[in-house]
Amino acid sequence: MPRANPLAWLSEEIEGWKRAGTYQRLRVLESACEPVARFDGREVINLASNNYLGLANHPKLVEAAIEATRRYGAGSGAVRTIAGTMTLHVELEQRIARFKRVEACVVFQSGFTANAGTVAAILGPEDTIISDELNHASIIDGCRLSKARIRIFPHRDFEAAGRMLAELDGTPGRKLLITDGVFSMDGDIAPLPVLVELAERHGAIMMVDDAHASGVLGRNGRGTIDHFNLHGRVDIQVGTLSKAIGCLGGYICGSRDLIEYLYHRGRPFLFSTSHPPAVAAACLAAFDLLEQEPERIEKLWENTRYFKEQLRREGFDTGISETPITPIMVGDAALAHAFSQALFEEGLMATGIGYPTVPRGKARIRTIVTAVHTREHLDRALEILVRVGRRMGIGRRV
Ligand SMILES: *Cc1c(COP(=O)(O)O)cnc(C)c1O
Repeated sequence: MPRANPLAWLSEEIEGWKRAGTYQRLRVLESACEPVARFDGREVINLASNNYLGLANHPKLVEAAIEATRRYGAGSGAVRTIAGTMTLHVELEQRIARFKRVEACVVFQSGFTANAGTVAAILGPEDTIISDELNHASIIDGCRLSKARIRIFPHRDFEAAGRMLAELDGTPGRKLLITDGVFSMDGDIAPLPVLVELAERHGAIMMVDDAHASGVLGRNGRGTIDHFNLHGRVDIQVGTLSKAIGCLGGYICGSRDLIEYLYHRGRPFLFSTSHPPAVAAACLAAFDLLEQEPERIEKLWENTRYFKEQLRREGFDTGISETPITPIMVGDAALAHAFSQALFEEGLMATGIGYPTVPRGKARIRTIVTAVHTREHLDRALEILVRVGRRMGIGRRV
């Protein structure tokens, strides 16, 4: 007798998403990641990447990757702690530590594993984590893995965070205050100066995830810690190599002891193979560019200011964004996905985002301009947004 399929419930679940209009097929990028790119056979203006500085397909990164591949091969052959630590990995960690003005750095396979692996490594069941409600999923997973008690404060509500910390004064166990530097779906910036002061006052470890701030905020893109001049006061800084740096990877910056500890206890570091040489070499080339060509970051912000201003002028609700991440709030998830689809058909790639990536009822399309979009690209994108928005009742009420 044929066995009943124990995964039959998956089909029902997926049919439900299709009925609700929240089912998403993966769009396939058929060109390099560029300001105008080809997805699913269509040339579109690409406002959906995290390629802030246009480094993902930069000739210097591409050359560095090819050169490293020729010299050192396609793969590293082992996890870092067994035999997979190559010269390029060490160079990259030293380079990032210097750039971030900290003692030491460890590179993980991704920003996700950096967050999850670190939080889980430094906290245990007797400890407490105080976490912003909009922190990235990798922070949330790390918190859960650690088995520590998790207390969530309302988004950017430092008074609530302060009350939670005060309640823990005098209790045993470590405390971790953790926040994104720039929030990935709303594009706003954490109130870091106050949070840092709270952590200091209550003896908590301060951890900041600068995935969307590295290469974007601070001098030469050093992130929110540099932006607010908080050097030496944030115990654990997280960054990604997958966004503005244009490649792949994540890193933790902090004291030498923190990094030594993670070399021994960061589970993704211990149990998952290190980057291919090409990745480390391309990242190194990207840090050269950050230091040599700060005008890329200026251009990114010039484009950001222009695009946001034009969107607001056209009556779009861009939420609370202060950075190049600019959501266009829609509310209903099915409408956000339909808006995104209609934009795509008119030549603009801007992804619809709904639950569980953002709370229910706060669906949106998310746009990110880059340093390599021209004014003409942005004007064309605006024209499409306005035209399609009018048709669908999104944007200016007339
Ligand atoms: C994208 C992102 C990550 C994950 O980085 P990857 O390198 O893509 O794994 C972590 N934290 C935040 C806030 C992010 O936006």
